[in-house]
Amino acid sequence: MNPFIRTLCIGAAVVAASLAHAHDPRWNQPQQPFRIYGNSWYVGTQGLGVILITSPQGHVLIDGTMEENAAQIEANIRALGFRLRDIKLILNSHAHFDHAGAIARLAHDSGAAVAASEAGAKELRSGGNDPDDPQYGMATRYPAVTPVKVIADGAAVRVGSVAITAHYTPGHTPGSTSWTWLSCEKARCVTLAYVDSLTALGHDGFRYSDDPARVARFRRSFATVASLPCDILITPHPDASGFMQKVAARDREHSSAALIDTSACRNYAAAARPRFEARLAKEQQDAREAGQ
Ligand SMILES: [Zn+2]
Repeated sequence: MNPFIRTLCIGAAVVAASLAHAHDPRWNQPQQPFRIYGNSWYVGTQGLGVILITSPQGHVLIDGTMEENAAQIEANIRALGFRLRDIKLILNSHAHFDHAGAIARLAHDSGAAVAASEAGAKELRSGGNDPDDPQYGMATRYPAVTPVKVIADGAAVRVGSVAITAHYTPGHTPGSTSWTWLSCEKARCVTLAYVDSLTALGHDGFRYSDDPARVARFRRSFATVASLPCDILITPHPDASGFMQKVAARDREHSSAALIDTSACRNYAAAARPRFEARLAKEQQDAREAGQ
């Protein structure tokens, strides 16, 4: 290869690599922890969700954010008056570095068990290096999590009085999982839904359309999310569902009505599906143009 072209290629590769690792600074920005509803608490950063669900017999944590945020998440939990060692179980939305990077550390420090969907467990054990991940080779790696228990689709996990149901929603990753549970305030109980990303993203050359079964599973996930029990929608990237704006409105109006929207999961799925279909169409068009 001509040395000038070669330099260009290396330059492009460096740019691509740094883009893959670039992230929104708010992913590390401290966020004061707060009560979402009843026994459900937000203990994540400004840009990445971590949910703590508490009971007198022990707590559940969903997601951990990035590896370097572990101390911040632990400080948030303590600031609310809870003890790390009372966390009995850690769950995950999907096994990318921005949601699972700190899970190994959090599990170590709390002594909690970790559980995930079948494919999610495999991804967590690989530390973000799973060949079935559309972002394989592009996603940032993180400390592998082990051991990881497997929770079946539709099964509920229990810690004390907390029961959380796993809903497999594969697509963004093969192990992507959404979680629902009930939280109560006085006489009113609502369902919280922590719904995983429905964004189709892949490394260079990856095509969802190369695997019809993968496409079918992704399409089924839109239907699954649309039909979830869902009074309060929370997403691993709170921005994806305007979660912090709803919390601000709730605090302003002193009414949890601002957080509750029974059509939120349906709308979230309805907005995501056309983006996936557009990506499939683009993959087909690119393949035709490449003469395949
Ligand atoms: Zn991801």
